[in-house]
Amino acid sequence: MIIGILGSGQLGRMLAIAAAQLGIKAHIFAPDANNSPAGDVAAATTEAAYDDQDALIRFANSVDVITSEFENVPAKTLDILSMHKKVSPGISALHTAQHRIREKTLARDLGIDTPAFWHITNAAALHVAMAELNKDGILKTCTLGYDGKGQARISPSSDLDAAFGALGSDDVILEEMIPFTAEASFLIARAHDGRSCVFPASLNQHKDGILDRSVAPAALDDTLIKAGTEAVKKLADALDLFGVMALECFITDGKRLLFNEIAPRPHNSFHWTIEGCATSQFTQLARVLAEMPFGSVSTYGQWQMDNLLGEHMDNVPALLASDHIHVHLYGKSGAKKGRKMGHTNRQITP
Ligand code: ATP
Ligand code: MG
Ligand code: MG
Repeated sequence: MIIGILGSGQLGRMLAIAAAQLGIKAHIFAPDANNSPAGDVAAATTEAAYDDQDALIRFANSVDVITSEFENVPAKTLDILSMHKKVSPGISALHTAQHRIREKTLARDLGIDTPAFWHITNAAALHVAMAELNKDGILKTCTLGYDGKGQARISPSSDLDAAFGALGSDDVILEEMIPFTAEASFLIARAHDGRSCVFPASLNQHKDGILDRSVAPAALDDTLIKAGTEAVKKLADALDLFGVMALECFITDGKRLLFNEIAPRPHNSFHWTIEGCATSQFTQLARVLAEMPFGSVSTYGQWQMDNLLGEHMDNVPALLASDHIHVHLYGKSGAKKGRKMGHTNRQITP
């Protein structure tokens, strides 16, 4: 069994490692597949552009099934690959997750609450929407944003023309600013025949728009866990997901759950599952791709995951020397500020 992985980052690396444990090989396809976190541990790599049709067809013919470790795969790339092999997470899941208006519209249509939002395509539209919102908001480019990049926080007194211009895009979403009491994420694995399995939820803290820490299983009201679990199931069914998908939510007043975004791939807030769950998110994805049964998602106590960004790398020797801390390093060179270099997992309650 060989799984093909589009993308060469740490998610592909951790998937390739988990797959290897199940006797499954990984073949990476990316423009920078050599000298990359995923390429370093894969059985094979193809270094080619996502629009290189011949290379894509050769890649598809060399593997049994294909997945993507990032959601911004060009639609054309997927079209070509899906003519040859089954593709995870599926065209519909990728297409929806690639655009913030599409994903929020789907959530709303499924009866899942979202922050109020407006599609903004010019500065005049922003003035109109801000007059309607009349409180703090957040502007985000509709496509390609991650780790809080391509976002600006605004208030009714902000210079709206400047804020819109600074984003450098005319495809923008305005969202109301949610005074959340917590952020939670839910992760589902869904097989090609529609069976699904939801992991225990994570509670997430961000710093400067980047995930800093996750604690799981989330100590949340049963009704919130039920709402999030049902929401991620509804979304996965509507998208005919094949693979894994995370749902990021805001929680207000400790009782209301609001949709923020989906990511149809393994998610940073579930890295704790590597040691903290009977089956990690990467192993579960490998099982789904290989058409194996789901593994158990029972957990051992409560776990904490901390990201290691470039600026944290001086702490690594101490982390390596401490008992009970599982250190994961992605093998990246160039420890820049804000760049995800690794993470640690630790059990916080037995
Ligand atoms: P990711 O790296 O998770 O893909 P992203 O760049 O796609 O992130 P978001 O998840 O939309 O961006 O936003 C990043 C963080 O900014 C959120 O986790 C949250 O902490 C904050 N944030 C985003 N939107 C809102 C909002 N409407 N109200 C309050 N806070 C928000
Ligand atoms: Mg995102
Ligand atoms: Mg996010």
